[in-house]
Amino acid sequence: MALLQKALRRASGRAGGGVEHALHYPLYPPPRVAMLGLEARGPRGVHSFPQWTAEDLRRLRPQALAGWWNDLAEAARLVLAGELELPCLQYPVVVFVRPESAPLPARCHDRLWEWFGAPTIEQIRMPDGELLAYECEARDGYHAVSAEAAERLGLVRSALPCPCGSPLPVWRAPALKGAAGAG
Ligand SMILES: [Zn+2]
Repeated sequence: MALLQKALRRASGRAGGGVEHALHYPLYPPPRVAMLGLEARGPRGVHSFPQWTAEDLRRLRPQALAGWWNDLAEAARLVLAGELELPCLQYPVVVFVRPESAPLPARCHDRLWEWFGAPTIEQIRMPDGELLAYECEARDGYHAVSAEAAERLGLVRSALPCPCGSPLPVWRAPALKGAAGAG
C-alpha cells in the first residue's frame, strides 16, 4: 500500500511538473542515504524527503545524509538536542551548495565533521536543485555536468587527470587555493 501511494505520488508529481534530481553519491552502489530538501531520482538506496521530520530519519536510520546546509544543520540540532539518534551514519555527507556560496569554507566542512563524524563533499546546485558540478570522492576539485556549467561557475579546468581515475575533466575554484590559510 505504501509503495502504491508512493508510486502515485511520484506519477502525480511528474505530471504536475515536479522535478527529480540525481544525487550523484560518491560511492556506487550508494549506502542508505537520506536526501533532504530535494526529490531524488534514484538510484536504489537513496531516499528523498523534500520535506522531512525527525520521525522520517528515525525510521530510515540513514547511513549517510545529503542536503542543503540548513537541512543538515537542523538534523544536527535535533541530534545534539537529544531529539534524534542517527546511529548508522558512517559514509560521506553530501552538502548542496548554491553557486554563490561555493566552495564552502573549510570551517563549514569542519562543522559538518563534528556533527556527523564523516567527511563532506560538495555539490553545486541551483536553488531549484539543478546539479551543476559535484566534488568526487578524491575531493580534489569538481566534475561538472557540462563545460558550460563549469564556466558559468567560474571554475578553472585542471590540466591533470582526476586522482579518482575518472576520465572526466577536473575543475577547480580559483579562489579556493588563493584563499587557503586566509581564514
Ligand atoms: Zn574525480
